[in-house]
Amino acid sequence: KLAAGEYGPERTGRVIAHFGRTLDVQGAGEEIVRCHLRANLEGLVTGDRVIWRAAQDIEGNIVEGVVVARSDRQNVLERPDPRGQLKPVAANIDQILIVFAVEPAPHPNLIDRYLVAAEATGIAPALVLNKIDLLPEDGGELGELLARYEALGYPVVTTTTARAEGLDALLECLAGRTSVFVGQSGVGKSSLIDRLLPDESLRIGALSKDSRKGTHTTTTARLYRLPAADDAELIDSPGIREFGLIHLDEQQVTEGFIEFRDYLGHCRFRDCRHRQEPGCALLEAVERGDIHPERFASYRHIVDSLNET
Ligand code: GDP
Ligand code: ZN
Repeated sequence: KLAAGEYGPERTGRVIAHFGRTLDVQGAGEEIVRCHLRANLEGLVTGDRVIWRAAQDIEGNIVEGVVVARSDRQNVLERPDPRGQLKPVAANIDQILIVFAVEPAPHPNLIDRYLVAAEATGIAPALVLNKIDLLPEDGGELGELLARYEALGYPVVTTTTARAEGLDALLECLAGRTSVFVGQSGVGKSSLIDRLLPDESLRIGALSKDSRKGTHTTTTARLYRLPAADDAELIDSPGIREFGLIHLDEQQVTEGFIEFRDYLGHCRFRDCRHRQEPGCALLEAVERGDIHPERFASYRHIVDSLNET
């Protein structure tokens, strides 16, 4: 047994929230321990896997901890800071759920923009179509849109928070993974997250926009364990929800259209920009119907928008 104030052996854990140099770390059990960072460490974010040591009181209760090392990151989600520099906001994410809705009607361009941004992080994207209670009887044009993305291999889930349906499929998609929700404002992200985290007590510290904006600390992300799905974790913050509008370069955009990958490197000209060059493998694939013309139009649109900014 340790004397008060001494630190015990190294343990593994995961950062579930952070406030400057103070972190909440969840150990292998369910316990959440307030930790500080050893002096030589910095830049830890929610989702980081860490090595920490616990300080116990004389009764053996863990009272606090110190984080001594960070494990290698599987991936990291970045956002530009106010000076335009990319800063990590969350790490070790398995899945980006791109939420869109029957209303406001989704623009395929925007879905593709999110998909490209997700592909650039190396985190697997999935699509969530919310507000299906508002779908017209015949499904409208959205059925065709969803089929297009499913054909590319992206998981697609349809949900509504207005009726008790569709959430099972979403829970299945969340099980066993760490996910983030992204998407335009108004599509129903908050409503979905409220359904997934029904217990107010789980949301302590969640999105405390109002309380922390006052002291102008940026609102940091928080990791939640979802009670309704098996081993499902969710990392959320207002900044993460806006992910997708980060700056990308042309190569990231081209490679972010996953069905293009088979053709890249097969154009006649090595520096082909896939505009009207003869022997362009991409243009030929569009011509043959192997690449969907709307996806190609999106590609063009996104590349052109890069040159504007
Ligand atoms: P967020 O900005 O993406 O977080 O979207 P919100 O969760 O704030 O939802 C925006 C609006 O859509 C609110 O008025 C919600 O009540 C409404 N909403 C959310 N989910 C659904 C749904 O499944 N069906 C319908 N009809 N409305 C929804
Ligand atoms: Zn080409």
